[in-house]
Amino acid sequence: MTIHKLFLTFDVEDFVNVRSIEALFLILRLLKKYHVRALFFITGHVAERLSSFPQVLDLLGNHEIGYHSSSHSVRPNIFEYTDLESYQDAYLISLRRETSHINPLSGEIEGEGGIKTLRKLFCQKEIEAFRAPGFSWSPPHLEALRSLGFEYDFSTDLSNVPVFHKGTTFFPFPVLIDWKDSFNYYKDFFWFVLSREVSVLDFHPDLFVNQSYWDSFFPRNAPQKGRRQAMLLLLKLEFLLKTIQFLKKAKFVEITPKPNEAKIRLDTTRIDVENVLKRIFVAPVTQFNYRPKFLRRHILQFFDILPTMH
Ligand SMILES: [Zn+2]
Repeated sequence: MTIHKLFLTFDVEDFVNVRSIEALFLILRLLKKYHVRALFFITGHVAERLSSFPQVLDLLGNHEIGYHSSSHSVRPNIFEYTDLESYQDAYLISLRRETSHINPLSGEIEGEGGIKTLRKLFCQKEIEAFRAPGFSWSPPHLEALRSLGFEYDFSTDLSNVPVFHKGTTFFPFPVLIDWKDSFNYYKDFFWFVLSREVSVLDFHPDLFVNQSYWDSFFPRNAPQKGRRQAMLLLLKLEFLLKTIQFLKKAKFVEITPKPNEAKIRLDTTRIDVENVLKRIFVAPVTQFNYRPKFLRRHILQFFDILPTMH
């Protein structure tokens, strides 16, 4: 019988609304209660704040830690500052920004921070997994992270199984992101876990208390959810964790194992560049009304696809 791999992941990105940290704490307590291990992608800005929350840090110690960029949606964001004609320049600026503290208001580099802060905070742990904010990764940025010791990407939509390319293992795109409104969620959940070798679920602790994603909340100060609504979401999570615990006990799934290097190499001849671009463009275009100019060319270079002549 196949044991399906299930990665339960959380993107931790809101460092303004203190209720987001409370939500994170309650989620961590639930995970402890059901002995479920998860992978937390944390931004540099949140890492700077977490040292003031020792109970949260203590509970995070039981889980895998990943990186969610230094400054998430602060502008210029990844797709803006890597949108340079020179691939090498985009790589170098990524190296600098991901190891620095970024001023949340001006977007300027201000001393050490980013992955350096996160690694100091969790000095006992290997931090080698990355998820790009809004799934908007950029190839020169990814290669900069590779130089900084990252081996696993959880942002792209290249294959339903993990695939290897240029030193990075690309995990499948999440089968489900946050909550659907109805009980279809559970039907979908079972279906995906049963039909796939590896499934990724993606949740946002800040969405338990903010009305919209951090990207929208940050510039527009979107309204918060009420206590009752937040508790209801936690109950839903508890129900899901009970299910996951049951599947684990039945040896049906393995929950958030340590990521491994994929054995399968990515077949770059089968990449649909337009589809990859469409996925990456969702956040830049919808949240920031920005359309990257050089991203297409960077993708062609990264996947060794020669541009066709028109
Ligand atoms: Zn995010």
